[in-house]
Amino acid sequence: MRLGFPRALFFYDHYPFWFGFFQTLGIQLVLSPPTCKRILEEGLKKANDGVCLPLKLLAGHIAAFRQIEVDAIFLPRMVSVEAGTYLCPKMLGVPESVAALVPSGLPVLSATVNWRDGRGAAEKALLDLGRRLGKPKKAVREAWEAGMACERAVRERQRQAAGAAEYFVWLGQEDKRPEDRARLPALIGAKPLRIALLGHSYLIHDAYANLQVWEKLSAKAEVRVAENVSGAEIEQAVAGMHKKIFWSHGKRIFGAGRSFIDEEEIDGLIYLSCFGCGTDSMVQDMLARAAREKRKPYMMITLDEHSGEAGLATRLEAFIDMLERRKRSEDHLSAPGKRLDRHSGVI
Ligand code: SF4
Repeated sequence: MRLGFPRALFFYDHYPFWFGFFQTLGIQLVLSPPTCKRILEEGLKKANDGVCLPLKLLAGHIAAFRQIEVDAIFLPRMVSVEAGTYLCPKMLGVPESVAALVPSGLPVLSATVNWRDGRGAAEKALLDLGRRLGKPKKAVREAWEAGMACERAVRERQRQAAGAAEYFVWLGQEDKRPEDRARLPALIGAKPLRIALLGHSYLIHDAYANLQVWEKLSAKAEVRVAENVSGAEIEQAVAGMHKKIFWSHGKRIFGAGRSFIDEEEIDGLIYLSCFGCGTDSMVQDMLARAAREKRKPYMMITLDEHSGEAGLATRLEAFIDMLERRKRSEDHLSAPGKRLDRHSGVI
């Protein structure tokens, strides 16, 4: 059986699990191609106007299966991936919200993953999926263990990855990015600056959607992302908050950001926000305040389908120039920066 898996949204966090799971059951996952102009345009045509860029991209990737031979398309409903947190409501709405976009005649296979109700509920959902595929319970349990092992292994490799190129190797996309592999030694070499790049995994790791921000930054700085921060460090960073962040992505982004803010070696933070994302509007503001308290340079960039590369490059260059000036003269704060700090009560 060949099962279509869109290279969007849940792909960037959960593909290793589903890869291990289905491979153990003898089912081949077939990915849609990496995001490109055609996929983005198709997504813009098909998706509702009001949704965020990542959902528009999902629509484009689903449409791409018109040209790929598969027996069905897999669209999991990711409700909760750890106790005490939820994914965003727009993700909870998949597969129904995108069902009309699936090429006609192609069956949709789905499973609800909800760890909030404990391991038992998650196991029940996968056993049900296995039953629909005609697989015995024992095989499904083995597949689950294989999926978890695969996800753990990939996460550990990504945590140690030194750049975009390595990250993509661990995600199984190395064949698509030969130019990155060739640049690997240069990416890992000592760089004068260290910048943390934060945001949703499906924006940070989709080079087309983010206008190659990682590659642009890598030319001047060593780039760190949330996947480089361990789960324990994230838990430590969010411990003691007045109110828990119950969005999984928000918690990971904020926790990683807090830990980068406290890290001496990180020179500045860039938050890539998706236009129209409700959780981003809150998390990015919390991070901006935390960064200001510690006088850590911070910049937010909002991306949507209309964002242009020239504007992005100018903002990145200006930010990097500012970081270099601060490195040369440690206490340097621009006049507007001083005023902002005075009003925030930090100085
Ligand atoms: S968290 Fe934000 S970017 Fe992600 S799917 Fe939800 S609204 Fe879109």
